[in-house]
Amino acid sequence: MEQYVPQHLKHQYDLYSREPKTGIIHRCNFPDSVVSIDTQGECFLCRCDAWLPVSVGNIMDFNSFEEIWQSDRARALQNDVAEQRFTYCSVDYCGIREENQMQSPKWISINIDESCNLKCPSCRSGMINFTKGTEYDKKIKMSEHISRMLSAYDQRCIINMSGNGDPFASLIYRPLILNTVPNEKHEYRMMSNGLLLKKLLPKTNILPSIGEYHISVDAGNKSTYERVRLGGKWDTLVDNLKWLRQNTNKKISLNFVLQNDNWTSLRDFEKLLMELDIWGWMTRLEDWGTWQGEQFRRHNVLGEYHINHEKCMKLLSKLTYQKLRFQPSLQKSIDRYKSKV
Ligand code: SF4
Ligand code: SF4
Repeated sequence: MEQYVPQHLKHQYDLYSREPKTGIIHRCNFPDSVVSIDTQGECFLCRCDAWLPVSVGNIMDFNSFEEIWQSDRARALQNDVAEQRFTYCSVDYCGIREENQMQSPKWISINIDESCNLKCPSCRSGMINFTKGTEYDKKIKMSEHISRMLSAYDQRCIINMSGNGDPFASLIYRPLILNTVPNEKHEYRMMSNGLLLKKLLPKTNILPSIGEYHISVDAGNKSTYERVRLGGKWDTLVDNLKWLRQNTNKKISLNFVLQNDNWTSLRDFEKLLMELDIWGWMTRLEDWGTWQGEQFRRHNVLGEYHINHEKCMKLLSKLTYQKLRFQPSLQKSIDRYKSKV
């Protein structure tokens, strides 16, 4: 399967064992019910393409979502996971060691464009915004193709966009947001930095089908936010969050990826969640290859080797948890820490 790992995922592929595993008691149905489409149109069968980095084909070569799940490569991965070998799975990160990973209804994750109005250092080293040229034309074709596939897909599903750019800032996502035929069996889950919600959300056709908003915040106060969300304005964010809170009764989650640049604002993040009456979701920093060499270790405050690790764990263990949930492996680390002190 290694030949089906795209070049940009080789780094993640090499980080973990790609041998059959033993001793995992939990089950996963993601390869039968999830498809995640990346910037080049490659299709993956896990909610995170870096966790199961084997492409089962390119979206432009499929005419329906069923064709993806029925392809030969998809069948091979489905059998491997169903028989609990998890050969190509990043089992120490995806949560399968902690609990079952079951998805129903189908999950379609669209991550075809990295364009964003920000340039967060954890995500990119410079601005990315496709507005014209060959890459733009290619992506627009992909967006229109997926929009047609979605319009014809008459099954219950969750459509997630986007894990690597901002769907409201990107011109590539416009055909998807504006032209896809709404279907009451479809529910959209929007991931955004939240800065353009107030301006663009009222104009989108899929607005009534949006069931969840996941806003990446990564900070609890202005100074931290404007450092980790380069180009973003804290006051604009808070204004948009308040507007969203007042204008929808759908689920809203504020996301926080824990790192050395933001852990000191954890208490303020909790205060923000309480003030807005919105739930927060906290995850570990993952090595996406954005930071070179030692840089990832310097940012990964949860690494036991990190100079601030102990202080960060202490602070984590003292939060109120009233409006905050954690990724299972992070929750486990906090519980372990609490049992030791
Ligand atoms: S076992 Fe983990 S990596 Fe493999 S498909 Fe399931 S969630 Fe993804
Ligand atoms: S807001 Fe999100 S997509 Fe945009 S640069 Fe920051 S981390 Fe990346």
